[in-house]
Amino acid sequence: MSPLSRFGNDLPFLTALRHDLHAHPELGFEEERTSAIVARHLEEAGLTVHRGLGKTGVVATLQVGNGQRRIGLRADMDALAMPEKPDRPYKSTVPGKMHACGHDGHTTMLLGAARHLAASRNFSGTVHFIFQPAEEGRGGARKMVEDGLFDRFPCDAVYGLHNMPGLDVDEMAVVEGPQLASSDSWRLTFKGIGTHGAKPHLGRDPITAAGSFLAALQSIVGRVVDPLQPAVVSACSVQAGDPQALNVIPDLVEIGGTARAYSPHVRDQLEEEIGRLAHGTAAMFGIEVHYDFIRRIPPVINDADATRRALTAARTVFGEKARTAFPPSTAGDDFSFFAAEAPGCYVWLGNGPAIDGALHHNTSYDFNDDAIAAGVAFWTTLVEQELAGE
Ligand SMILES: [Zn+2]
Ligand SMILES: [Zn+2]
Repeated sequence: MSPLSRFGNDLPFLTALRHDLHAHPELGFEEERTSAIVARHLEEAGLTVHRGLGKTGVVATLQVGNGQRRIGLRADMDALAMPEKPDRPYKSTVPGKMHACGHDGHTTMLLGAARHLAASRNFSGTVHFIFQPAEEGRGGARKMVEDGLFDRFPCDAVYGLHNMPGLDVDEMAVVEGPQLASSDSWRLTFKGIGTHGAKPHLGRDPITAAGSFLAALQSIVGRVVDPLQPAVVSACSVQAGDPQALNVIPDLVEIGGTARAYSPHVRDQLEEEIGRLAHGTAAMFGIEVHYDFIRRIPPVINDADATRRALTAARTVFGEKARTAFPPSTAGDDFSFFAAEAPGCYVWLGNGPAIDGALHHNTSYDFNDDAIAAGVAFWTTLVEQELAGE
């Protein structure tokens, strides 16, 4: 029997569930309906279910035999605050909310694996199925950890999976090392002395200072960070003055942006160097600056041993199409908070070609139902191999 065909019986149920979740998207920490559905199906499958970690998070435990190893498998449940454009039978029924990152598929596949493993019980050890809220920038993973996730449900390894357009649905990338970047925000306010636009010498112009700062900003990546280390610094917001007041130099300029890195050292460098540039610019122009670097999520860096274990499972399911080379993403994923507590591996499951060019977070994006069996097969195989009657 092929690794995928084992799950054929459950596919109509899982596909219908995926469509139902897609039609009812919920934003981070608001996944009341989704988590209730997840918890109900897990309970019906006979798992021990714990609710309320990270507000709307769900953890279900399946313990079989007397194997001592414990692993955590994670799916995220949240949608995005954006409209869904195409008409599809299961189009979002909630205006301005949409599953544009495929988390409806992640939730479905992990639930499918839990159902299968609870029935087949072909392993010895403990699996914690972690259904996480609020992955999309609202801090769900951190909240679950703060609520005692790993104290209550200790794990010897933790695994995450994300769909990836451009890879075939029978294809998976399992790569050691950096997978996703740190995702941090920075803000600064240049405070000068506002004055008449015709009399700049009577004030201190923060706009000219901001221009100098922005022009120099890319020198951090270009001149300070090791050229062999990827890094991104982007200014994404500039607020100053009033387009109706073109003869007024304002007091303040507010600038904000994002910083991305794949190592703790480069992350530290970006925090320090953006600040240095801000303070140096302020000194140069005789104005003040207030600078904040807001650490949001660390990079996702796959542990060597966990990656080896995930790759073994991927090769069993996908054969030659289990890839060990795939470029990291400059996006972030707060799975890194879980991987900080136990050796972790984050894998990419193919979602097929990008239809009409729609990638993650596009108003046309959709999880590919043809990937459901592959994802269930991967999770199930990983558990059966990792917890093979130690
Ligand atoms: Zn996303
Ligand atoms: Zn996502």
